[in-house]
Amino acid sequence: MDISVVIPLYNEDESLPELFSWIKRVMEENKFTYEVIFVNDGSTDRSWDVINELHNQNPDTVHGIKFRRNYGKSPALYCGFDRAKGDVVITMDADLQDSPDEIPELYRMITQDGYDLVSGYKQKRYDPLSKTIPTKLFNATARKVSGIHNLHDFNCGLKAYRNEVIKHIEVYGEMHRYIPYLAKSAGFSKIGEKTVHHQARKFGKSKFMGLNRFVNGYLDLLSLWFLDSFGLKPMHVFGFIGTLMFIVGLLSVIVVGATKLYYLNNGYVHPLVTDSPYFYLALTMMILGTQLFVAGFLGELISRNAPERNNYQIEKEL
Ligand code: UDP
Ligand code: MG
Repeated sequence: MDISVVIPLYNEDESLPELFSWIKRVMEENKFTYEVIFVNDGSTDRSWDVINELHNQNPDTVHGIKFRRNYGKSPALYCGFDRAKGDVVITMDADLQDSPDEIPELYRMITQDGYDLVSGYKQKRYDPLSKTIPTKLFNATARKVSGIHNLHDFNCGLKAYRNEVIKHIEVYGEMHRYIPYLAKSAGFSKIGEKTVHHQARKFGKSKFMGLNRFVNGYLDLLSLWFLDSFGLKPMHVFGFIGTLMFIVGLLSVIVVGATKLYYLNNGYVHPLVTDSPYFYLALTMMILGTQLFVAGFLGELISRNAPERNNYQIEKEL
């Protein structure tokens, strides 16, 4: 099979029939063999009925996965990826903002140009400013942290992957925003971008609004960066900072002790160690340093016992 289209959806019943017939037209025009996997993420509208109808009309090409409740876009993608059989896997949003007309070129970039992953880039966006401006900021940070400098738009719903890529990454929580980073961490580094057309939402409204998506987005980025850099060796970061702090604390203790002795020798009455700022420095630094060290040690114990500690990706074997 050439292409699997994976579509996560949450309350998009109005869009589905039009979306599917559009995909079908593009696939037939280009003579692709394909499947469409709709992942119904706990919709409360008629979405599942629509998917059922589409499946009945096209039993070989339309597949559906129905979640019992709303888990989020990442879990939906995860389950869709698990089922995808096509050589190239394309994800797109269900809201008709992404155009199926992009599919042939995306397919060509993966199969002929040899990309592992091609991300859509909505150069001209039809979203409110409250969405596009924070997104710019978000993408700039994501580029810096991940080291993928050629991507403008990490979170575009329209993406294409070589099948191998999606079988070797695990999208969880809200990590769909960082799939290119996940792919890069897993060793798939040929990541490209294609400018795609974007349209205003035709039906319903956006499921990702509000400020907390940016707070959570940044926290997720931090976790990913940490896992990528120190996930297998937590002691290297905690142990280092901890030791550094402990040394500063130790030096401060020496200063405090030496001052006290000096005062006593010169006949001061009641010289107090708490008069010295170094006393407080010594106190905090030694306590924090030890704690960080212990945190590193615990992290090390955990990662030593983690089931995926020796989960390396072997690309080829002879
Ligand atoms: N979506 C989902 N589960 C959710 C929220 C959204 O499967 O909990 C789907 C949604 O139906 C759509 C896609 O994810 O197909 C992108 O959502 P949306 O269009 O609301 O995001 P935006 O384009 O506004 O960023
Ligand atoms: Mg949308």
